[in-house]
Amino acid sequence: MIKTDHIQIQCPECGHAEFEQPENVQDDDFVKCNQCKFEIMLSDLQEVGVEQAKEVVIPEAKKEIEKILKKAFKGFK
Ligand SMILES: [Zn+2]
Repeated sequence: MIKTDHIQIQCPECGHAEFEQPENVQDDDFVKCNQCKFEIMLSDLQEVGVEQAKEVVIPEAKKEIEKILKKAFKGFK
C-alpha cells in the first residue's frame, strides 16, 4: 500500500488502493495494482495521487468554509 501524507492513492484504472511494489521502491520503479495488474511508475502514481488528493480536499475545504460562514451569519437573522 502506498500512502501520501494522508490520502491513499487509487489505481487510475480500477480505483483499487493496494499495489505490489519492490522493496525500497524508487520513483522510477514500476508498481503493480493488486487487482487489475495495471503497472505504473511510482512517480506517475504519486502524481495521480496528488490530483486525487486535490479532488478530495477541495470539496471538503469548501464544506468547512460554508459551515463557518453559516455560523458567522447566524447572528444576523
Ligand atoms: Zn487497478
